[in-house]
Amino acid sequence: MVAEIVCVGTELLLGDIVNTNAQHISKELAHIGIDLYYQTVVGDNKERVWNVLDTALKRSDLIIMTGGLGPTKDDLTKEVAASFFGKKLVFHEQTYEHVRKKLESYGINEMTESQKKQALVPEGSLVVTNPAGLAPGIIMAQGDKAIVMLPGPPKEMKAVLAECCHLFINRLSDQVFVSINIKCKGPDELPLREIGEAPVADLLGDILDNENPTVATYAKEDGVLIRVTASGKTREDALTAMQPVVTKIAEILAGKIAWVKEEV
Ligand code: ATP
Ligand code: MG
Repeated sequence: MVAEIVCVGTELLLGDIVNTNAQHISKELAHIGIDLYYQTVVGDNKERVWNVLDTALKRSDLIIMTGGLGPTKDDLTKEVAASFFGKKLVFHEQTYEHVRKKLESYGINEMTESQKKQALVPEGSLVVTNPAGLAPGIIMAQGDKAIVMLPGPPKEMKAVLAECCHLFINRLSDQVFVSINIKCKGPDELPLREIGEAPVADLLGDILDNENPTVATYAKEDGVLIRVTASGKTREDALTAMQPVVTKIAEILAGKIAWVKEEV
């Protein structure tokens, strides 16, 4: 399974906002062991969103889109994704009720036509209620391809993605993924030639090609982070699978490690 992220929003292209959504989703995908090969940003333009989807679906299986799920005219993600899979937008009662109640809680009792638009979803899609806002997450599948649409505002995107990740994990496998982070000391404690990403990668050698657990290094300003991720039937199985590798890394990097923690 190969994933691709497509962030929709002209303000991203103009540099008005930073694409923190792509960063968060990338980390989540890495954490649950889904490969990500491409990220794309496209403006709020039907034809260009369509073209980006076309390219993405040719090279990836799971497309995660963010932005453009709101009620305004420039919000066209749902419409384009639905038409791409030949689906109509249909009324979704549960979402309508969710939007109505949320608005009511803000003291708004009349829904505008645009607000009602939030309750339209592509027919046959799986709808994930947004605990942090109005626009729901939407999962559309066709054959072995899937498009997941998440709202643009980061707080909402994170909340809906958290729900979706459970769905992916449960659907894709009966495995549990566990990560252990090993943080190396920083440049203020040891010289970079000893503790930079390249020397650490050299010291780890073949360990970086390991499959279960996988081992990856990340250059951070305050020192290299090594993430060891294993899967297993239970958390205990995953921890058992990664223990020899974690021990080996600790031996190789003796004296250079700041801390070791399980990622939660
Ligand atoms: P809304 O209902 O607010 O219109 P939406 O799903 O339509 O939500 P957008 O209109 O594309 O999302 O974006 C709303 C806001 O969310 C943006 O103005 C921006 O502040 C934030 N946002 C959107 N995309 C991103 C992104 N990729 N990274 C960080 N922030 C983002
Ligand atoms: Mg919007």
